[in-house]
Amino acid sequence: MKVAIVGAAGRMGGRLIQAVQEADELELTGAVERPGHPQIGTDAGLLAAVGELGVTITDDLVTSMENADVLIDFTFPEVTLKNLEICANLGKMVVSGSTGFTPDQKIEVEKYAERIPVVLAPNMSVGVNACFKLLKEAAKILGDDFEVEIVELHHNKKKDSPSGTAVRMGEVVAETLGRDYNQVANYHREGMCGERTREEIGMQTVRGGDIVGEHTVYFIGMGERIEISHRAMSRDMFARGAVRACHWLQGKPPGLFDMQDVLGLS
Ligand code: NAD
Repeated sequence: MKVAIVGAAGRMGGRLIQAVQEADELELTGAVERPGHPQIGTDAGLLAAVGELGVTITDDLVTSMENADVLIDFTFPEVTLKNLEICANLGKMVVSGSTGFTPDQKIEVEKYAERIPVVLAPNMSVGVNACFKLLKEAAKILGDDFEVEIVELHHNKKKDSPSGTAVRMGEVVAETLGRDYNQVANYHREGMCGERTREEIGMQTVRGGDIVGEHTVYFIGMGERIEISHRAMSRDMFARGAVRACHWLQGKPPGLFDMQDVLGLS
């Protein structure tokens, strides 16, 4: 299976180049960056410190995709939407880990996924996806008696807040409890903002240094508290998840899938 990576010189890009290089049955055939990026013309393998691969970083996604079966995209929503359009026109599969999509942008993703198979997941780690499942079970057992708060920590370069993973965690809990996440999410408490409502799901973000990503969901009851936490120590497991998604997509019909589908957890 031939793979192109977009966002190749980014923090995830290097990890993805290495993961594809190490994966059985996957071959890196394209590496793409934004026009004007200083690494254009560099060998992708040298950039990722895995040795020369003979794949030069370009800004030409169309040509790169003509030679590839699947695109791995870890960029940003507006870039991902353009990339999806190119891949839909060429009939190529997409695995995207980009985060921060607005509800309207998600609808656009769904439209492209009517034409090609797409895996879109705010977190590709097996551990986080196991947490989604555990959160569903916890919310089912604890019901409305426990109040839910989410805290996430990331590095100081992260652009979107709260993280896509934290939002997904909130959505999973809200859906299980029969609530509309967008109605009950509370991102901001300051001053005399009043008592907490039972339904709300509090969401706090911490930014600093080089934290790869940490998420804790608190279920807070009277006299007891459950915490479900995930801590990422490196970006490699996100990249391995993306590789797993590429393998899984082979032979799939058009449609929008996530890591719960890839891991058989849905
Ligand atoms: P980054 O800023 O280090 O890398 C993004 C790269 O995309 C940059 O190199 C940038 O130049 C490139 N880019 C921007 N516009 C482009 C364009 N038009 N064409 C081609 N390339 C373009 O960011 P990062 O930390 O690597 O994260 C990238 C995305 O992946 C973010 O949305 C982040 O939240 C997400 N992420 C997802 C997971 C997951 O498991 N799903 C894990 C980590 C990060």
